[in-house]
Amino acid sequence: MSNFSPNTPIQRISNDTNKIFVKRDDLYPVSFGGNKARKAINFFEEIDKGHFDCVLTYGSSSSNHCRVIANMCASRGLPCFIVSPNEGETTYNSKMFEWFGAKIIKCNISKVKETINHTLSQLQEQGYIPYFIQGGGHGNLGTKAYVEVYNEIVDYESETGVQFDYIFHASGTGTTQAGLVCGKHLNQDYDRKIIGISIARNLSRGKQVIHESVENYFQNADGLSLPEKKEIIFDDSFTMGGYGIMNKEIKSTIKETLFKEGLPLDPTYTGKAFLGMNKYLDRERIFNKNVLFIHTGGTPLFFDYLN
Ligand SMILES: *Cc1c(COP(=O)(O)O)cnc(C)c1O
Repeated sequence: MSNFSPNTPIQRISNDTNKIFVKRDDLYPVSFGGNKARKAINFFEEIDKGHFDCVLTYGSSSSNHCRVIANMCASRGLPCFIVSPNEGETTYNSKMFEWFGAKIIKCNISKVKETINHTLSQLQEQGYIPYFIQGGGHGNLGTKAYVEVYNEIVDYESETGVQFDYIFHASGTGTTQAGLVCGKHLNQDYDRKIIGISIARNLSRGKQVIHESVENYFQNADGLSLPEKKEIIFDDSFTMGGYGIMNKEIKSTIKETLFKEGLPLDPTYTGKAFLGMNKYLDRERIFNKNVLFIHTGGTPLFFDYLN
């Protein structure tokens, strides 16, 4: 697996009220794509340059992040250690972590942090030089991946003349949104709105973490003003019961979007966010605008849903 950064396609889908476009980051050509693959490329660039001889990360059994990390470790013959809470069913993602040869360290959900610290020191005692990646690919390298995506969007706009008034996406750990917000700030695109549809977190926590990530990303950028907290639009009105919980509306959104557009969505992230975007546009009476939805991936979760 080599490192590269191809631009993912942007396609228009049918909608009468607004012009809706979808950036197909689910087609990013590494390990079933998505935002975790985007972020992982940046982490592995650093791993490949350094003297690390194993990788430690964590995530639930449905984690897209852990799948990608395990796959990229396998491609390099690097041992991969994944701390994962006991709760959670077998999924296509968790089957893949094991298939890629990752060593799964199970623990109680309340002991994740402890278990990570313990595993790190154990690995060091055994003489390993581990590279640690936060859950979901959180951190500046993850943020950077979505500054890069923002720049791809700007490239598309200058090639086609289309200007997006809104960018929507599923927001979880907030790293994707932090990257987009930083990209918008760096490009001084003050008129455009980036709207993260929360898939689980409440507004105050969600916004706080995004703001911290943005501050972190700019901490060494002398002389640059920081984006204000109020520029971060994180909407928690559509979490619909919390992480991984799906309802009838999400199900019909998934079905309709696949049948009508050939566009697969999953219940945990993109289906919920796509539905949330439509509700947001209705609620705010937004029409005749150019709207971009970033499809952040999660393809294996679609197949879990189909099962
Ligand atoms: C992790 C994930 C998200 C959320 O991304 P964050 O950077 O954690 O906010 C959205 N969509 C999919 C498919 C994901 O796997």
